Order: sequence, then structure tokens, then C-alpha cells
Amino acid sequence: MSRAQPKGTTGAVAYEVIESCHSRWVFDSHRGRFRRVPLAGDVDLPVPDEEWTDYFGLEHSLDSDGFVVKLNESGSRLLRSFRHSEPCPHCAEDAEATTEVAVTPIGG
Ligand SMILES: [Zn+2]
Repeated sequence: MSRAQPKGTTGAVAYEVIESCHSRWVFDSHRGRFRRVPLAGDVDLPVPDEEWTDYFGLEHSLDSDGFVVKLNESGSRLLRSFRHSEPCPHCAEDAEATTEVAVTPIGG
């Protein structure tokens, strides 16, 4: 039920890349980890393992540009952000609306 996502490729490994207003989120679903890089950064650069953060799931809002990253298996630690779009309501805000929140897991 999720929307098709743009895919970025680095060598033989396919990453899922989401661009929010100020960052590019790179999800390595095969290894269950992700990282955020500035929009000006280069996703293709090799990065040390410690720059990756483990994640346990990625949920896309069906009715908005939002997405949620599960930081633990139970889903009690979530990272929310918004996909950048044109026109973008989120760019008008002072800072990217990325906060870690504790909520009831989606579908859980
Ligand atoms: Zn934006």
C-alpha cells in the first residue's frame, strides 16, 4: 500500500533516498541502517560504519509528505520528518520539523 519510492544506486547496492527540506535521508534497507546527509553532500561517498544509524522500519504517510523511521524494534522511538515538495509548506518553517517522539506504533 506504499507509494513507489525513488531509488538511488551506489555500485551494486540500492539505497532508498528521501529528500527532506534540508537533508537527504539514505536508507540501506538490506543492512537495516540509514544516515542523513546535507543536501549539498554526496550520497555516493563511502562513509564509515559509525555514521550509519540502525533502523527497524520506514513508514510513509499516505495522506501527507511525512515519513516515520522506527529507531527500535517496538517502534516506541520514532523519527519523523517530511518529504520536500514543490511548493513546500515545510520550507517556510524556521527549522526542519524533525523530532524524536514516543508514540503508539503505526499498525501496532
Ligand atoms: Zn521543503
